[in-house]
Amino acid sequence: MTTSIWLQNMQTTINSSLQESLQTDVCIIGGGLSGIMTAYHLAKAGKSVVLLEGNSFLSGATGHSTGKLTAQHGLVYQTIIEKFGLDAAQLYYELNQKAITAALDLVDSSIIKPATSFLYTTESNNIKKIEDEWDAYKLLHIPGTFGEKCEIPYSSKASVSMLEQAQIHPVRFGQSIMDMAGKAGAKFFEHSRVAHINLSKPYVELENKQTVYCKDLVICSHYPLEAIVGLQLVKLKVNRSYIIAFKCSEPYKGQYLSIDQVGRSIRTVKIDNDYYTLLAGSSQRAGSSSNTNIYYEAIENEAFEKFSADEIDFKWSAQDPETPDLLPYVGQISSGYPNIWLATGFRKWGISNSIVAGQIISDGLLGQSNDGIKLYSPKHTKIGDTLMQALKVGGQTVVDLVGGYMTRSSNPRCTHLGCKTRWNEADETWDCPCHGSRFSKDGSVLEGPAVKPLDL
Ligand SMILES: Cc1cc2nc3c(=O)[nH]c(=O)nc-3n(C[C@H](O)[C@H](O)[C@H](O)COP(=O)(O)OP(=O)(O)OC[C@H]3O[C@@H](n4cnc5c(N)ncnc54)[C@H](O)[C@@H]3O)c2cc1C
Repeated sequence: MTTSIWLQNMQTTINSSLQESLQTDVCIIGGGLSGIMTAYHLAKAGKSVVLLEGNSFLSGATGHSTGKLTAQHGLVYQTIIEKFGLDAAQLYYELNQKAITAALDLVDSSIIKPATSFLYTTESNNIKKIEDEWDAYKLLHIPGTFGEKCEIPYSSKASVSMLEQAQIHPVRFGQSIMDMAGKAGAKFFEHSRVAHINLSKPYVELENKQTVYCKDLVICSHYPLEAIVGLQLVKLKVNRSYIIAFKCSEPYKGQYLSIDQVGRSIRTVKIDNDYYTLLAGSSQRAGSSSNTNIYYEAIENEAFEKFSADEIDFKWSAQDPETPDLLPYVGQISSGYPNIWLATGFRKWGISNSIVAGQIISDGLLGQSNDGIKLYSPKHTKIGDTLMQALKVGGQTVVDLVGGYMTRSSNPRCTHLGCKTRWNEADETWDCPCHGSRFSKDGSVLEGPAVKPLDL
């Protein structure tokens, strides 16, 4: 079994599971960073808040990320300008940059560290893409540099940096915010999986049949538990990546992301008294492969050859849903259900975007203005993009539903929509290729949208 560096030494929690039915102003599903940030703002504003987590707090994507807190989300600004206009791109940058400033104010320096973010390429035919992104930075007045030498052991042919960024220990960061939210009155329950949602008169029912009645319901379950209303089921696709961590002698000043076909994400971190390099990459559609060892092997070989690693101390993998058009979905699930909000589709950039989401959702529920409400609205995807994504996601689902029955009859069926799961050799999990649900060896749910264990 694989373990994230962030969860390795996580202190045991004192929060219990919910054992009684409750009434609250706001019920939040999901104890990752988006749910926790939302709980923090709402509790501080005087709302009664109940947050329900199905597994352990921060053990989802947040605790398996690389913890870069940055507004540099790959090659995005040129595309956002083309798709949504200059003002939208400016706002996207400003909201995410503001999230970094807010985070620096919220926690102490043992949890967050300033760092410059770099995009780089090792391929000559990608230089133009870096140049175009730099042009977008100049248009948007994003502080950065072009062509700076990267300190990593890859021969960069072009790079663009974004200044005034940061990196966090995502679990300690989330725990600090939880402490503050708890002091403001938010109630947190873990091992409290929501099994059923009622949208019209919002309430949720847990696996153990306890019920939480609320005025407003916020779905921060990563892949949304309710994905049919609003068509998230066909709009979101889920990608998985692989990460390793190994000891190094000194930290990098920057954090790096290659834009090449074989992408790599690199940062360093000091945990207790040791420095580690985190090396991530090898993306693939979640649940699409059984032989996942090859993804780890690819980055492990680079760790030994390029970074002279002695041994690999940690390895883990994680996935994130993405929308068809780069921008996440944060807002009301549909105009028919104004009391149901969701946050998803962060495309592996949900650390800063979870902080943005917490602010958008809380401002929305408190009736305060926030320009992000329109930009991040789940309605922003144009019909053409929705149809293209629906064809890809829906087509693949049909292949996996039908093909699964014909070719992998011994594999258990996902309890979400019935696709056949695949055994993931390296992580020792059952993974569903349709919508990304994952189950442990014994069949219990690790990641939704499934809420029921496998019938093994
Ligand atoms: C490999 C990888 C690296 C990444 N690195 C970065 C990075 O460096 N910087 C960055 O900005 N972003 C990064 N991301 C993205 C980021 O980690 C995520 O977008 C973000 O953590 C999502 O937060 P969340 O709160 O939405 O989801 P999560 O952290 O997954 O939290 C959702 C929670 O909901 C719970 N849940 C689900 N169903 C139920 C239910 N039925 N009942 C109760 N609880 C439920 C889950 O157990 C989970 O704990 C990375 C992602 C990946 C995959």
